[in-house]
Amino acid sequence: MRTVVDRLTSGRRPTFSVEFFPPRDEADEAILWRSIRELEPLDPAYVSITYGAGGTSREGTIRNIARVATDTTLVPMAHLTAVDHAVAELRHVIGHFAAVGVRNILALRGDPPGNPMGEWVAHPRGLTYAEELVRLVRELGDFCVGVSAFPYGHPRSTDLETDTHYLVRKLDAGADFAIAQLFFEADDFLRLRDRVAAAGSDALMLPGIMPLTTPRTWRKTIELSGATPPRWLVERLEPLSDDPKAFRAEGLDVITELCEQLLAEGVPELHFYTFNRSKATRELVDRLGLRAPRTQAAVTGA
Ligand code: FAD
Repeated sequence: MRTVVDRLTSGRRPTFSVEFFPPRDEADEAILWRSIRELEPLDPAYVSITYGAGGTSREGTIRNIARVATDTTLVPMAHLTAVDHAVAELRHVIGHFAAVGVRNILALRGDPPGNPMGEWVAHPRGLTYAEELVRLVRELGDFCVGVSAFPYGHPRSTDLETDTHYLVRKLDAGADFAIAQLFFEADDFLRLRDRVAAAGSDALMLPGIMPLTTPRTWRKTIELSGATPPRWLVERLEPLSDDPKAFRAEGLDVITELCEQLLAEGVPELHFYTFNRSKATRELVDRLGLRAPRTQAAVTGA
């Protein structure tokens, strides 16, 4: 099974996946590969690598996701954005993914480089919305395609109704699933799932999860979510900001509780942001009982 949808619909459920970013240098690349090798025996449904704003970071995505396809037992998914790309270049990158055995693509519009909220300017021979990239990827081969979704609405959307409208349009353009941006409470994700279902789409909705191990990951979660965290959560985490051990323990408890609520609501898979380290994800996978049965047996000696 080499596609995300195969893995999520015919495989064991529930499961998890992991997201990495392209390494900046050789030392970073060694860390990335140590993490990939540490996660491989846990049998994630798929692993993805984000697509950078340009140049070497894009080469890092393309090279490393190809290596996942050729050198590991893992199912690879490449992120791809329309930023600064002519359609001809996008065709070339997509063709390369196919040639190296990457069958899954997360099709994104991307943000203006340097300033995510700056004016979006499409490449003169490029694309304007993720919906168009979904169509292009579909046109070019037998790919399994994912898109992004935003529990509180995309920062540029005027309201949730408009946001849901465009999300469902890109799903209908040929996407099989959506991965949600970071959020704080299970209900925030479940309401997004309900909105999409009410609009008539049965695409799989998958939650993005950040293991909260440091105040930095907490700040990043707030920034990426685009929303204000609830007071109860701020009160649990912020008093521990100067105590790294206590913050990590509480942060992982918070995320374990969030994941348990999502799994209880029938969510088939949790998509973990790893920051290219595997330890916190491995801990959460163990706590949540998401290891593949054969690796569980190996752990317990059964
Ligand atoms: P779109 O779906 O095109 O939406 C952009 C805005 O336009 C939204 O406000 C939407 O409502 C509106 N819109 C959409 N279609 C239309 C239409 N037809 N007419 C009018 N308005 C429309 N960024 C990276 O650079 N690299 C990555 O690897 C990456 N990975 C990500 C992974 C996940 C899971 C998520 C949630 C985000 C990721 N991002 C990544 C960030 C993403 O690129 C940005 O959030 C970007 O601003 C939105 O991309 P999109 O694909 O959702 O855009």
